[in-house]
Amino acid sequence: MSQRVEKAVEMLKNTGVRMTPQRHAILEYLLETMSHPTADEIYKALEGKFPNMSVATVYNNLRVFKEAGLVRELTYGDASSRFDANTAEEHYHIICSECGDIRDFHYPYLHHIEKDASKAAGFKVTGHRMEIYGICPECQSKQSH
Ligand code: ZN
Ligand code: MN
Repeated sequence: MSQRVEKAVEMLKNTGVRMTPQRHAILEYLLETMSHPTADEIYKALEGKFPNMSVATVYNNLRVFKEAGLVRELTYGDASSRFDANTAEEHYHIICSECGDIRDFHYPYLHHIEKDASKAAGFKVTGHRMEIYGICPECQSKQSH
């Protein structure tokens, strides 16, 4: 078990969340993948190990993790949400419009945009989300062949 998983388990226990083998597996999967999976993808990755697990179980656990601040939910209108367990570092996302891959893109947090928006609109700003769109290297090489 990695240190990140251990820390997250400890943190959940401290907030009174009971650990179950399924909960542990979902948490571990999320913390170890870089792919920002949907609930369905998590379910498919773990159903072999937990034949009795349902998609609803995955959703319930994601809600628990989200409330504990361990994952961030990225909503996309009607499409299913994706879940990001990297909440420790501020980062942006770059998304492939061909295969839908979402990757981390590290860039200094744009505080000044929040300040400017607040000034311009009179809002008390609580955050922002920025996504860059394009075609990933793998899809580019598929296109040129
Ligand atoms: Zn792609
Ligand atoms: Mn991310």
